[in-house]
Amino acid sequence: MRLIFLGPPGAGKGTQATRLVEKYGIPQLSTGDMLRAAVAAGTPIGQKAKAVMDSGNLVSDEIVVGIVADRIEEADARRGFILDGFPRTLAQAEALDRMLLDKNLALDVVLELKVDQTRLVDRIMKRAEEAKARGEAVRKDDDPEVFKQRLAAYNRDTAAVAPYYEARGLLVPIDGMQPIDAVTAAIENVVSRLDEEVENR
Ligand code: AMP
Repeated sequence: MRLIFLGPPGAGKGTQATRLVEKYGIPQLSTGDMLRAAVAAGTPIGQKAKAVMDSGNLVSDEIVVGIVADRIEEADARRGFILDGFPRTLAQAEALDRMLLDKNLALDVVLELKVDQTRLVDRIMKRAEEAKARGEAVRKDDDPEVFKQRLAAYNRDTAAVAPYYEARGLLVPIDGMQPIDAVTAAIENVVSRLDEEVENR
């Protein structure tokens, strides 16, 4: 199964993707996590991406598409994957299509977590407080000002991605304002049905 999580920063994509990983045993490919790892390791990609990420803007399509192209070649992604935070531009969506076409693979579903953006800043501040309470490092880009920039980048660059998939009948909206377990249940509902279809193909 190959699926994509769409939705603004703080919508819960990462949390929900992690839950699907446990259930379906397919990897979560988070471009944000991959980029943060590259920054931490000080790789050439990390060095290029760091300032852009710290400002809340998008890293170039070229870098991100390259990372995803390499990652989906790995053995654990052969049975499927969950893309979290990618594609974030139309160019990335088109590049993904080309990658999959080359391998004769298809996407099964695009889940769009719909949230009230006016509530997201509160959510993200809570996420930062919770991370701090667990003794974990707080993401630099979860600072409220940087977060607003990430939201602006989403509305400017990523909003066009959902209609792209809607036009192909792949988009399923999910109410992301429900309690976390209810969001998981709504997602499960869609994914378990699809999983059966994929298994029976
Ligand atoms: P995330 O953890 O998905 O919120 O990503 C954190 C940051 O990494 C974003 O604010 C961007 O700077 C960068 N990033 C992650 N995924 C992408 C992507 N698909 N395209 C461009 N930049 C990305």
